[in-house]
Amino acid sequence: MDDCIFCKIAAGRLGSLVFEDDELAAFKDISPAGPVHVLIVPKEHIPGIKEVEGDAGIIGRMAARAVGIAREMGIFDTGFRLVVNSGPDGGQSVEHLHMHLLGGRPFGWPPG
Ligand code: 5GP
Ligand code: ZN
Repeated sequence: MDDCIFCKIAAGRLGSLVFEDDELAAFKDISPAGPVHVLIVPKEHIPGIKEVEGDAGIIGRMAARAVGIAREMGIFDTGFRLVVNSGPDGGQSVEHLHMHLLGGRPFGWPPG
């Protein structure tokens, strides 16, 4: 999708990727909330998790990849958080499905 920032990043047109394969891409968050903050996205433009309600597969593959990146980034043992925000109350600000991988410091619960 031409006017979607995450489509452009996932296509490798705006800087470097942490990971990519045929389906997924991962890159560092521009405004990191911790020492590690990576976003895992599908290369295909999917607005959010509601659009994959009937497809457990892609979310599972995104989560599996996030765990692999956590291992590569040295936060596998100390722990990490995976987050998918949806809609206004969920705090979704970019309308392209993405999973946050956060780590490198303790995170509080419940979120704000
Ligand atoms: P959301 O609030 O939608 O769950 O998360 C969107 C995330 O995308 C935010 O953490 C924000 O910092 C990040 N972000 C927004 N625009 C850009 C960008 O142009 N490049 C990168 N790398 N991250 C972005
Ligand atoms: Zn997009």
